[in-house]
Amino acid sequence: MSSDVGVCLGHYRELVKSGRYKASSREAAECLSLLFGRSIAVGEEVRLDELMPKPRAHRVYDSPLELLTAGWPTPLLKVSGPPKEAYAKLEWYNPFSASVKDRTVYYLLRSVEGERVVEVSSGNVAVALAAVGNVLGKKVKVYIPTAGRYVAPFLDFLGVEYQVLDVSMTVEALEHLQKDIREGAVHPNQFGNDLNFIAHLRTAAELDWQLSSVGRRPDYIIAGLGTSGHASALGFYFGVKYGTKLIGVQPRDWIPGIRRVETGMKWISLVEAEIVDVSLREALEGVREFARKTGLLIGPSAGAVYKAFTAQRHDGVYVLIFPDSLMKYALLLEQLR
Ligand code: PLP
Repeated sequence: MSSDVGVCLGHYRELVKSGRYKASSREAAECLSLLFGRSIAVGEEVRLDELMPKPRAHRVYDSPLELLTAGWPTPLLKVSGPPKEAYAKLEWYNPFSASVKDRTVYYLLRSVEGERVVEVSSGNVAVALAAVGNVLGKKVKVYIPTAGRYVAPFLDFLGVEYQVLDVSMTVEALEHLQKDIREGAVHPNQFGNDLNFIAHLRTAAELDWQLSSVGRRPDYIIAGLGTSGHASALGFYFGVKYGTKLIGVQPRDWIPGIRRVETGMKWISLVEAEIVDVSLREALEGVREFARKTGLLIGPSAGAVYKAFTAQRHDGVYVLIFPDSLMKYALLLEQLR
């Protein structure tokens, strides 16, 4: 999408509010086509229901890509309450990168014309791009900031080209892409491509569908901020539908996968959010507490979200977004010991 997603928000707002929406202009039809992932004609009416997942009861799949799309929804696990009731969305159940980034990358790559793709990533996007790229027949190259080098072994097995750069933040690696772009590679641009935000409006619809099945609507959503695509889309959808409050988690120092708002992120300004700081030490405490309570090993940024939740005072229904599990970080944790 070349224009700004801002032009679509009014259309999306009406769709989310009333559950159906007629594409009465070309602009509306284009915005809805992006969201629904199919061509929608002017005059056509769409229903929000169409965005809800259609899981396979017996979990038998014909292709790796179906494992992703027909594998949704990812599980929603009740982890506490009431009166402070919390449900955790376990995004490591996505099959390729074992993270939420399978969703983003699937949407971004489907829109890419051309065979060569170049991107910067500190971890999950690199793995997701390499994996989904293999499935879709794209030749992927990724640039990784130093801190993301723990994913290099995965990229080796997936067989993609990558380069680890001597920079600390993913956005700082962006300038390195220019040569590849000049030579014909396409840059999906997870930081600026509105399909990132739009992909997660579908995640929001999925989560809504799950919560409705247990008669719940969220008062609060707590999510980490990387590109901000994920948290902002959930904040937008649930804010419109139920007045849900978004709590965005940023690292006080450094936590893999998330960063501070002032480093620049595109979509967080589209929603109202309270931003909270969590340190790496607190995030790992969160991982430890959660592991002792549930036996589940959540990733560091999920630990930060859990820690932010335990610090909340208000009763109500919370949704905690857990982007990935701890498994990928074994090498990194070894270095931190
Ligand atoms: N990836 C990981 C590992 C994360 O922890 C998070 C947020 O917590 C994200 C990605 C954030 O996603 P986004 O880039 O959509 O903001």
